[in-house]
Amino acid sequence: MQVSCSSVAALHTAAAARRSSTSNFRPRGVVVKAQKHRSSADDVEVDGPAAASSSEGGEEAPHATTATARMPRRRLIHLAAATTAFVVSSKLSAPAPALASEFASDAKMAIMNRQGPVRFTDAEWQTKLKDEPYAYQVLRKEATERPFSSPLNAEKRAGTFACVGCGSPLFYSTSKYESGTGWPSFDSPVDAKAVTELPDYSIVFLPRTEVRCATCQGHIGHVFNDGPKETTGLRYCMNGASMKFQPAA
Ligand SMILES: [Zn+2]
Repeated sequence: MQVSCSSVAALHTAAAARRSSTSNFRPRGVVVKAQKHRSSADDVEVDGPAAASSSEGGEEAPHATTATARMPRRRLIHLAAATTAFVVSSKLSAPAPALASEFASDAKMAIMNRQGPVRFTDAEWQTKLKDEPYAYQVLRKEATERPFSSPLNAEKRAGTFACVGCGSPLFYSTSKYESGTGWPSFDSPVDAKAVTELPDYSIVFLPRTEVRCATCQGHIGHVFNDGPKETTGLRYCMNGASMKFQPAA
């Protein structure tokens, strides 16, 4: 059988195409696995307070101090790696969608989806919170109320500040202090497990630490390192719209 020059050229072209496609081929599993590895290593770590130093709305608090050795170590949940894996895998033109279980635990995915032990659909949250001013926007959509707009900013009675979404206790009045920022401020939650703290990169040039109600994963505010140095050194800068005050009996 005679092989014509054009056939040889065609074979060369086909081989070159195969080589090219082979060298450019990136199996999706490799990328996801690499991300998964990073994710599992970085997902959860016991960390000190994040180094954000501005207040909820970008104003400086008058109580700004240097970091103190007495700051409690808090649990900071890192979801960034898992989020990256999501973006990377969705950009690949892979035939099958990436499975969440490939790179994050169900618990981490629940937090990414803002779902806690108490959970409702978005429509149910809207209905449940319809009579609470701004509560849905703050708890479920991470909105920030205007400073000095919440009556809770001036609340000085003894009692408990509870999540307006699920009723879980978040802060005692004994931890409340006047930060001058216009948002209800506390130096510590009722219990470290009452809140979920995780990095917030929504403002690229201002990394912050978001604080959520651990029970319903509703957004309640941010925590900063410029709290009162005589106690914890932390400032939990909260949205009054996300809480309800329960006076002590
Ligand atoms: Zn809640």
